[in-house]
Amino acid sequence: MNVAAALKAIIPEVAADATQPRLRIKDVRLEYEMAGGKKVVAIDRISIDVPDNEFAVIVGPSGCGKSSLLYLVAGLAEPSEGDILLGDSMVDGPGADRGMVFQSYTLFPWLTVRENVEFGLKRRKVPPQEREDIVNRYLNETGLAAFHDAYPKQLSGGMMQRVAIARALANDPKILLMDEPFGALDSQTRSTMQKLLLRVWEQHQKTVLFVTHDIDEAILLGDRIYVMTARPGRLKQEIRVPIPRPRSLDMVMDPEFIAVKRQILELLRNEIKDDEH
Ligand code: ADP
Ligand code: MG
Repeated sequence: MNVAAALKAIIPEVAADATQPRLRIKDVRLEYEMAGGKKVVAIDRISIDVPDNEFAVIVGPSGCGKSSLLYLVAGLAEPSEGDILLGDSMVDGPGADRGMVFQSYTLFPWLTVRENVEFGLKRRKVPPQEREDIVNRYLNETGLAAFHDAYPKQLSGGMMQRVAIARALANDPKILLMDEPFGALDSQTRSTMQKLLLRVWEQHQKTVLFVTHDIDEAILLGDRIYVMTARPGRLKQEIRVPIPRPRSLDMVMDPEFIAVKRQILELLRNEIKDDEH
């Protein structure tokens, strides 16, 4: 038995956390089969390790496989090759250990804000009193307490995304998967939501995998940014964001911020050129 295995036998959670990055995407390839049997390679051998509690951001040209990659981690699709591990368990289907927030609003329209946030807890049969405490806590943290009885159709886009975030967090997932969650919001609301997300991320120490095409957003939020190539999506470059936290959009004119932005724009520009030839 090696050291990790020995440790794991004694203190399973601690050992798993201490020895392995939270999320490991290993040599993952994804092919879609089109009508007529033709295969399209959406993702071509991507490997990414996201350490515990890290905020990882994926950027890349449209159609490069960002959403597909998130679906794979969510267990909503299966890789054609390669493996995805969360801690030391292999992803082989959806699970409550991954919380998802997508760009399109995915709330249950027939449930109130409170019931939406409570949904996963109820399904997992968390006792009513505990459930209520958890729900109240996340409603407060996301600024939704006054709206707990509202239905999704009564809410603005930003408020709906708050509910989606609260709902994801209420399940205490190991990782949050976010696919352009603020992409449909106006810039003022987006900025408010970015601040809110940073606050809850710092408070709850979650691992996050976040997709965006907004480069300022990527630099504002991410510890690391993974730049993908045009389809078939490969990992073009991994950039560690050297900007200290707390961060704010006031920093967009700082030389460090501009340097990272220039680097990403350059990488993406080359991708679009390659695609045209
Ligand atoms: P992104 O999120 O980066 O814009 P997607 O992951 O949505 O990219 O798509 C990657 C590629 O796979 C695109 O070329 C898209 O057309 C294709 N694709 C996505 N979903 C399917 C599907 N269900 N069947 C066939 N092709 C798909
Ligand atoms: Mg997408």
